[in-house]
Amino acid sequence: MGRHNVRAAMVRDFDGTFAIEEIEVDSPLGAEVLVEVRAAGLCHSDLHLASTNMGIPAPVLLGHEISGVVREVGDRVSDLTVGDHVLATLIQYCGRCADCLSGAGHRCKEGAQTLRAAGAAARIEQDGSAVTQMFGLGGFAELVLVHENQVVKIPREIPFAQAAVMACSTLTGAGAVFNCAKVAPGENVVILGAGGVGLNAINAARIAGANRIIAVDLAEDKLRLARRFGATHTVNASDQDPVEAVREISGGGVQHAFEMIGFPATSLQALRMTRTGGHAYLIGLHRPGSMLELDVMADVIGPQRVLHGLYMGSSAPRRDVPRYVDQYLSGALDLDALVANELSLDQINDGFAAMASGGGVARGVITSF
Ligand SMILES: [Zn+2]
Ligand SMILES: [Zn+2]
Repeated sequence: MGRHNVRAAMVRDFDGTFAIEEIEVDSPLGAEVLVEVRAAGLCHSDLHLASTNMGIPAPVLLGHEISGVVREVGDRVSDLTVGDHVLATLIQYCGRCADCLSGAGHRCKEGAQTLRAAGAAARIEQDGSAVTQMFGLGGFAELVLVHENQVVKIPREIPFAQAAVMACSTLTGAGAVFNCAKVAPGENVVILGAGGVGLNAINAARIAGANRIIAVDLAEDKLRLARRFGATHTVNASDQDPVEAVREISGGGVQHAFEMIGFPATSLQALRMTRTGGHAYLIGLHRPGSMLELDVMADVIGPQRVLHGLYMGSSAPRRDVPRYVDQYLSGALDLDALVANELSLDQINDGFAAMASGGGVARGVITSF
């Protein structure tokens, strides 16, 4: 107990680089859990946060897809014990508001209730001042101190790196298919963007029994991987009109289109790939102020389409993670091919540089600290 000196990758200048420094992590109070991090995935949103000054007070500790071993628990934690294997997610929910009680914790506006009260000792400090713990998590460190609502127990059979990937890209991609679209057997779907989130959505669509599962991307290596995860058709948007191609493959448009990239052009394409009464789901994060220019009659009212904005696959981690773990252990959900690249904390800048240059499809995961 007491405070722990640990190594962490810190962001100070928002220039996309991380510095390995020492921080002090407190012991858990109340409903908090101290987790020894065994795997932390590198995610595009971390790279975005590390390279864009959005007014978040520096230094910032990022890393939001984590797995590890419980080291200490607060006195109000009853369902986790020291030694448990867990994953931790960025979904901060209070567990008591109307949204939480209706199973929509991803809409909770009271997530800050899971943080320490103003005036309490900081969870994480460096040189006597508080460190910003992004999403109440901050997993690019040897230890993470987090509220129990963000933590889910996992069986020992699932490797830490695979569990870390599950904590973000599976919740987001598979959650979009199972929780939001509720894809039914025989329906046709398209996934725009075959990165980690897209591949999980493709895999989930296969599990759900979708008939035609169409992957759209610009990179042939991603489209090859998409077939391994269950895509029945692939469209390389660099050499054909993706809207026409998808409408033709699906016989007039798909029931569900999932956009993972976050551009206005691909978002409109997703909408226009759907059939009458179809649904398009915007999942990729757009730049602030990004605008969509729709032909309202031709794109929306005439074809009676629905456009959805999703957050984290509408996931309830303690409901959904056990299902994904079972699907992984039974071989239905492929996470192994998403973890090609295991790194040490000291290699974090190389890992993000590789991601930024588009090299490699699979996730880089830090597995030694
Ligand atoms: Zn992520
Ligand atoms: Zn709530």
